[in-house]
Amino acid sequence: MKKVLIANRGEIALRIMRCCRDMGIGTVAVYSTADRDLKHVRLADEAVCIGPPASTDSYLNIPALISAAEITDADAIHPGYGFLSENADFAERVESSGFIFVGPGSDVIRLMGDKVSAINEMRAAGVPCVPGSDGPLGEDPVVNLQIANRIGYPIIIKAAGGGGGRGMRVVRGDQDLIDSIVLTKTEAAAAFDNDVVYMEKFLETPRHVEFQVLADNHGNAIHLAERDCSMQRRHQKVVEEAPAPGITEEQRNFVGARCVDACKRLGYRGAGTFEFLYENGEFYFIEMNTRVQVEHPVTEMITGVDIVREQLRVAAGDPLSYRQENIKINGHAFECRINAEDPDTFMPSPGLIEQFHPPGGLGVRVDSHIYNGYRVPPYYDSMIGKLIVHGNTRESAVARMRGALSEAFIVGIKTNIPLLADIMDDANFARGGTDIHYLEKKLGIS
Ligand code: ADP
Repeated sequence: MKKVLIANRGEIALRIMRCCRDMGIGTVAVYSTADRDLKHVRLADEAVCIGPPASTDSYLNIPALISAAEITDADAIHPGYGFLSENADFAERVESSGFIFVGPGSDVIRLMGDKVSAINEMRAAGVPCVPGSDGPLGEDPVVNLQIANRIGYPIIIKAAGGGGGRGMRVVRGDQDLIDSIVLTKTEAAAAFDNDVVYMEKFLETPRHVEFQVLADNHGNAIHLAERDCSMQRRHQKVVEEAPAPGITEEQRNFVGARCVDACKRLGYRGAGTFEFLYENGEFYFIEMNTRVQVEHPVTEMITGVDIVREQLRVAAGDPLSYRQENIKINGHAFECRINAEDPDTFMPSPGLIEQFHPPGGLGVRVDSHIYNGYRVPPYYDSMIGKLIVHGNTRESAVARMRGALSEAFIVGIKTNIPLLADIMDDANFARGGTDIHYLEKKLGIS
């Protein structure tokens, strides 16, 4: 693999570009007309404009991306996260046009993109799932009431094609069930073009714990332990950490091994994440992400594995550089997502960055595309960077994050740094193991 086209923007495009550079692989940046000044566009070997600001016309524009790969003679396309990264049709188009898609096969993306089929696959691999309807709900109200009563209220109705925390509805008793199913189906049909819904037990106070996996084309699959991403607002992760507080070595080995089995069963290739809800000491699979995740650096910090490098190696047909016995957990890592937004109202705050002083020092990593004089465009996600720290213990890592946040200085736009600093000072956060509703309760919005 000699040249990779990076079909993304912002910090992840820069992250991928840096990795290619380390590996001696050429890079092609693609950008919308609003993104000419992105850092990786300036640094990549080549850059191609793929359309106007709206994502649908640029970063989601499949023909424009394929043409850019053709004219630059790229060998492979790395989709990053978001945009087309989990779009099976895109992966298929990339491969049928003669390029390598840096990710799993399109059939696996399709299978795991449907939550009902994903859950069935996981059950078959012995991965623990949330008790539920074990398949799509039919039209018969009597049967649906029976299913809900067998599971026991509260239950959650979820769209098989759902994503981004949308297409879900909690039901607490028989009286609301039938209407809620119809409503969720209607919404799912409109939002995801797929009206299949299913039912799960609703867990009241779970944590979000996810396992990172890597697999190659040579039958090797490993896991890189877990991350805790329970600090969320509106299903969006705000702070992540690895390893997850309170998870025993035995639990890690057991669940990790089931995830590895699932990868082998699926013929999985590349990096992936199995997401679980964790409550009362039990893991319940909810979905798989078939791409690199925003929070992958915390895993890199505790294992020393460069996840993007392994993605590229595997895509090129090379075997993984590690075996399970080589993976050791060292210390503790946190990631804070820095967003261009008002810390109180959460309204996006795009605009000119007049001054930026990034934090630094031992165990501090800044993955960000911003710089002095960069203008944050209003068209895309508000995340402008990630601050990642590593410490020998969880406590020392929290202290390091506090210090790093106090050093991070951004003038010109509003950011959520004050909120992140508040979280680092929170006594319950310091103890570890807060649930997915904790942040919203703390903010008084739940
Ligand atoms: P999406 O693809 O939209 O991210 P997920 O299936 O990952 O959907 O669910 C998103 C979030 O919804 C979870 O992180 C959790 O907060 C909540 N959730 C999903 N299923 C359940 C459940 N069975 N019980 C409680 N909360 C749930």
